[in-house]
Amino acid sequence: MKSNDPPYASLTAHMKEVGLLGGAAVVLGWDQEVLMPPKGVAYRAEQLAQLARMTHEMSTDPRVGDWLSACEDQGFDDPLSEEAVNVRELRRDYDRSTKLPAELVAEQARTASMSKAAWAEARQASDFERFRPWLEKTIDLQRRIADAYGYPSDGEPWDALAEGYEPGCTAAQVEAVFTPLRERLARLTAELMDVGVAPEPVLDRLTLPVEQQEKFVRFVAGELGFDFDAGRLDRSTHPFCGGAHQTDVRMTTRFHDDLLGDALGSTMHETGHAIYAQNTPDRGVGLPMSEPVSLSIHESQSRLWENQVGRSEAFWRWCFPKLAGFFGDAVAGLDQAAVYRGMNRVQPSLIRVEADEATYNLHIMIRFELERRLIRGELTPAGLPAAWNDLYQQTLGLDVPDDARGCLQDIHWSMGAFGYFPTYTLGNLYAAQFFEQASADLPGLEAQFAQGDFKPLRTWLTEKIHTHAMRYRSAELCEHVTGKPLSADPLMRHLESKLKPIYGV
Ligand code: ZN
Repeated sequence: MKSNDPPYASLTAHMKEVGLLGGAAVVLGWDQEVLMPPKGVAYRAEQLAQLARMTHEMSTDPRVGDWLSACEDQGFDDPLSEEAVNVRELRRDYDRSTKLPAELVAEQARTASMSKAAWAEARQASDFERFRPWLEKTIDLQRRIADAYGYPSDGEPWDALAEGYEPGCTAAQVEAVFTPLRERLARLTAELMDVGVAPEPVLDRLTLPVEQQEKFVRFVAGELGFDFDAGRLDRSTHPFCGGAHQTDVRMTTRFHDDLLGDALGSTMHETGHAIYAQNTPDRGVGLPMSEPVSLSIHESQSRLWENQVGRSEAFWRWCFPKLAGFFGDAVAGLDQAAVYRGMNRVQPSLIRVEADEATYNLHIMIRFELERRLIRGELTPAGLPAAWNDLYQQTLGLDVPDDARGCLQDIHWSMGAFGYFPTYTLGNLYAAQFFEQASADLPGLEAQFAQGDFKPLRTWLTEKIHTHAMRYRSAELCEHVTGKPLSADPLMRHLESKLKPIYGV
């Protein structure tokens, strides 16, 4: 089959129309988080529901099924060609979305928009009861959606939801990866806490004007390779990266006058997502071969820039001398080695997005366990705060003082994103494995960081990962890039080889 064959040409022209509308929804969603006045929420919900209804109707148009069948009947010489991959992935999407009634799609979109607003208010007031009715409605909808998708008899409803973020991912597989990892991470954390000497978080002990912090993180994002002519960096409560197209990528970060380390980490994280989004080739709007492969691979890109780069000693050899230019006398007494060590402080904490590299995955494991029980119906939304607080006590040894710092801290469930959280930990594992491979392929990588030269790493990531778009599934891509299946060993090697010397254990 060739790209100018009539069924394929009709299919791609149609998917472009779907992609253009989907991109408009992304920009409206960004606007809701960044700019929209609060009273606009109900109207915005109507707009997003309308767009969701239109894109769903177009994606499930029976002609799409006919064009796909005609392409499949003609066959492909190379199953990994651009055309073959587009047809394979569009078939998967089509089969999935034709299982969902249009009413359910529109109801989910409308509910998500209202529920997000209710969550933001509840979190502000630290009042779970304000959010509870929306969480109940959301979970009810998610269970109906899972039933509509269906799942194998040896699986569970959570699997059907996770499939939307991470094709082929099941709760049983996640549990199999998480159980031994939890043990190794808990052992490392305990060793650092019990025997080691913790570094001070020196960057987060300073009071620095937010305007200067913003100038500084914009500078770093640009040096890493974020193209400001093809994207924006703004502020929002919960940092994120989205975008309509390679040429219009929207990322956000957040600032507090005494948390420069947090602002820098968040910005480098979102910059990693944005570099992936800007460097995935445009092979046609709305086509899988123009899109990132999965959330876990997306997260591997953000984590790699945030952690493997941003918390490395070499990065700070370049970055530290820049601080004085942005903050002047306020950073005069700082020591480079102390800043590097401080960026690698490990401290069991309540808030996932502020967590260090060692304990971060424990936060994810708690959420995975709870959302699996919520979707199974073993845990009611009313019981969530108590169950959450219990697990934080058991896993991290912490008392949760209020719901804002407990089960209301993350936006994901309010949007109906169940099955999403484990992709963060899978992303951490992929990041470590990819970075080990990049270091082997590119001798002198760290010396380049120390010179502020991030282009060789960025080019390697584009050639090995970004350019493939959806050609390979996550697990296949990992084997293709590193020659090995995903393993927890690179992440544990990365953490132990860096943290143990810092803690003197
Ligand atoms: Zn991320």
